[in-house]
Amino acid sequence: MRLKDCGLTKEDLKEIVGKYMIETYERFDFVAETAKDMYLYDENGEGYLDFYAGIAVNSAGSCNEKVVAAVKEQISDVMHTFNYPYTIPQALLAKKICDTIGMDKIFFQNSGTEANEAMIKMARKYGVENFHPNKYNIVTAKMGFHGRTFGSMSATGQPQNACQKGFGDMAPGFVYAEYNNLESFQAAVTGDTIAVMIEPVQGEGGVFPATYEFMTGLRKLCDEKGLLLLLDEVQTGWCRTGEVMAYMNYGIKPDIVSMAKAMGGGMPIGAICASEKAARAFSPGSHGTTYGGNPVSCAASLAQITELLEKDLAGNAKRMGAYFAEKLKALPHVREVRGQGLLIGVEFDEKIEAVDIKHGCFDRKLIITAIGSSIIRMVPPLILTEEHCDRAYEIIKETVESCQNRK
Ligand SMILES: *Cc1c(COP(=O)(O)O)cnc(C)c1O
Repeated sequence: MRLKDCGLTKEDLKEIVGKYMIETYERFDFVAETAKDMYLYDENGEGYLDFYAGIAVNSAGSCNEKVVAAVKEQISDVMHTFNYPYTIPQALLAKKICDTIGMDKIFFQNSGTEANEAMIKMARKYGVENFHPNKYNIVTAKMGFHGRTFGSMSATGQPQNACQKGFGDMAPGFVYAEYNNLESFQAAVTGDTIAVMIEPVQGEGGVFPATYEFMTGLRKLCDEKGLLLLLDEVQTGWCRTGEVMAYMNYGIKPDIVSMAKAMGGGMPIGAICASEKAARAFSPGSHGTTYGGNPVSCAASLAQITELLEKDLAGNAKRMGAYFAEKLKALPHVREVRGQGLLIGVEFDEKIEAVDIKHGCFDRKLIITAIGSSIIRMVPPLILTEEHCDRAYEIIKETVESCQNRK
């Protein structure tokens, strides 16, 4: 839909949103009317360079032609069926994903948090049924982020944060340990523990990659104690970190992995992949979803994943991520540039407010996001080139300089 076709102005639209919508986001003063590849366009056709990609979703570019074509074709064949009949996109996507990432089985969901719910439920049932009735506890990381539904938010180790605060008791069965601290995780494991669950790179927590020692150490810990290693790759999955899945950067394999964001190319879809052993915990009746595995989302996902792999966008993420991160280190007031591939965080010193940088970049037509008071996060489409990195760098630099002059 376009504003002019609806006979509305931007101000009309903002008024409607203000009156009718429950707003939990600070919005950009921007109507996204169309999008293509590296750009979002407003109602005047003005292009904004997109370095957040709908939060790490539009990895093969916004409105990727192959994804759009797949959706159009599938949507007029069959739009929704529930999971009683077989559908072709679902079966082909299941094979493509499992074969590509070396996992045995898949279960489709609609989003990241739902995928994590499935992962948590599978691990708990595996523990209760294979060991004893209390063996369902999961050790997760402080400052992690796993989503907004009750299981996922309980797994999110941020008790003081808006994610958990004010909602009463969290779901039982979660213990929080220090990220990148193997001893802390070892100490948190008891006879009632069944799994360890982390993000390979903490995204919302401030862009902190797991160290090699930590990740391989957790794998070893799980093997020794008979625990499941659960990886939340909702943000890191599907080529963003320079490998197809982030765990491939560490030469390990999880027992269950969750995925969502980039896999649908903009259509809502999530999934878990599991080893044969863990997957046996789910049997008829034990888990389900109305929309999960929807044929349109699966067709979009199959096209998106095929694009990501055929264009080697993991390779591009590795190359461009290294190029861009190196450049960003030259910004004024930088404390640290962190990340993996094209999941990049820049932490500034106390002279700089991250939201000021976010807004300043927006005014200069570059879209990025801020985390906390001092970190900006960039998760651009993986199709980007050196020219895009150079342009973004210039805009951020100009913004930081103008912010420092203001103080
Ligand atoms: C975004 C995100 C989620 C939640 O995904 P939704 O699709 O928003 O439910 C969970 N885990 C991680 C690591 C994420 O980045």
